[in-house]
Amino acid sequence: MPKVIPVPDELSKPFWDAVNERRLVIQNCTSCDLLQYPPRETCGKCRSAENLEWKEVSGKGYVSSAIVIEDGRLDRRRPDQPYNLALVHLDEDPGINFYSNLPGTPVDEVPVGAAVEIVFEEVAPGQFIHEWRVVSE
Ligand SMILES: [Zn+2]
Repeated sequence: MPKVIPVPDELSKPFWDAVNERRLVIQNCTSCDLLQYPPRETCGKCRSAENLEWKEVSGKGYVSSAIVIEDGRLDRRRPDQPYNLALVHLDEDPGINFYSNLPGTPVDEVPVGAAVEIVFEEVAPGQFIHEWRVVSE
């Protein structure tokens, strides 16, 4: 299954370095106690860059909604169609969300509201991406 190979920039490099170590880190402002994703140069609340750090989170969360991509525009993903695209919110901060294809969950069978956990898929040697899978009861 062809997957997107991430191309980190200076701002996102710590995020992708952590993913390659199978860890999820989110930018955190220690002054505001605020997580933010995607990473930005400054805190979205206090506008300061000085108190931003990378905080490791559990990667546990839940699915709030999902659609099935049947006619997407990304050529490299066409062979995968149809596939799930689920919106995942982190337990640590439901305001932080990610899209996931929910590997292991059949198309059109995404359980909205279900708990998910992060998994890491190797898309190239030593290069991982983050995905989520439904936690079985
Ligand atoms: Zn702040």
